[in-house]
Amino acid sequence: MIEVDKGDCDFCGACAAVCPVDCIELYEKDIKIDSKKCTECKLCIYICPIEAMSYVEHETV
Ligand code: SF4
Ligand code: SF4
Repeated sequence: MIEVDKGDCDFCGACAAVCPVDCIELYEKDIKIDSKKCTECKLCIYICPIEAMSYVEHETV
């Protein structure tokens, strides 16, 4: 799954703009990724100017 480091993220919206399935919800001071819709294409990781996004293996809860 894709994770965002909210401490680093400046909510610029670049990732939400590039996401092909539109699963990134951006708020003024928050960001959410709908992991059910996300295809893990990783475009958002490449587009993020400050590398606030990362891919992590699915967690076993
Ligand atoms: S592109 Fe990066 S800095 Fe911009 S909103 Fe997305 S995660 Fe945050
Ligand atoms: S990995 Fe792809 S589908 Fe998932 S949030 Fe990023 S851009 Fe969207």
